[in-house]
Amino acid sequence: MSDYKYSIEAKNVNKIYIKNSKKINALIEFDIQIKRGSIHGLLGPNGAGKSTFINILGGLVKKNTGKVSICGIDIDKNSKQSKFKIGIVPQELNIDPFFSPVELLELQAGLYGIPKNKRKTEEILENLKLTEQRNAYARTLSGGMRRRLLIAKALVHSPEMLILDEPTAGVDIDIRASVWNYIRKINKLGTTICLTTHYLEEAENLCDSITIINFGKKIKEDTKENLLNIISNKTVSFTINNDFIIPNDLQKFDPIKENLKLTLKYDKNRTNLREIIDILNKSKINFKEINTFESDLEDVFLKLVKIDD
Ligand code: ADP
Repeated sequence: MSDYKYSIEAKNVNKIYIKNSKKINALIEFDIQIKRGSIHGLLGPNGAGKSTFINILGGLVKKNTGKVSICGIDIDKNSKQSKFKIGIVPQELNIDPFFSPVELLELQAGLYGIPKNKRKTEEILENLKLTEQRNAYARTLSGGMRRRLLIAKALVHSPEMLILDEPTAGVDIDIRASVWNYIRKINKLGTTICLTTHYLEEAENLCDSITIINFGKKIKEDTKENLLNIISNKTVSFTINNDFIIPNDLQKFDPIKENLKLTLKYDKNRTNLREIIDILNKSKINFKEINTFESDLEDVFLKLVKIDD
């Protein structure tokens, strides 16, 4: 296996579509670095440019300018070899209804020229829990099974990098969790993962690192932890035993009083919750319940997307 640090590396990528003689800048000086072995999220609202980038990786869309390499291979210099390095799972669940999982994977292996004795059809079906359905017509498979079958199909040529375009778009909540588990499993088996999503919860659950894209531009790229640390605001709410007046010392925490509920905001890097509780105790305000809320990726996303406007 060749030696490379980034499974995907792109620099200054521009893509302009022309539609009704109007120019659409789908990617503008777009950069990305996806570390080998990671699960990386490409996060952005609809129309941000995510699919355009994936289609450039898959050779379906031609970039205007820029440099892209997949597992250390330049896609312009060696497009065939670079395509062998990645498997792409499309967003739509389009599968020929009269093919069984075994037939579909065998056909795909044939397309990649993999000799019969080197095929891993049964192993892949087993990993994606499709062994029981191996001979069933695809049309009889549930949505979750079809999604897994598409993942299986993308793994036939043992790619070092798997790309999933909105892996759980339109998928039920309970199936979503099982798709996440398979993605984690494939990653643990050694495959680098890049997924696009507009579900912040999905990125928060799965990804080690994230690139946020909007209007074709990269807004931010960092580890998930660092992104979450950008916002250090926390919210705390108390359920107070008796009616009360907000103490002056709490005014700096933007207090909101609703009946017996008191909600405060504080910066966790500057204020310790103990400090707030001490002020309540000193003011003889007793409470029976306390709840704290961390900021999530949604807060970070809103903050970053706003900065760029
Ligand atoms: P995302 O995947 O983040 O939703 P896309 O890459 O699909 O974003 O789209 C980025 C921009 O490029 C959008 O403004 C979209 O309308 C435009 N676009 C995408 N594909 C085409 C195309 N084939 N022809 C013209 N415009 C396109």
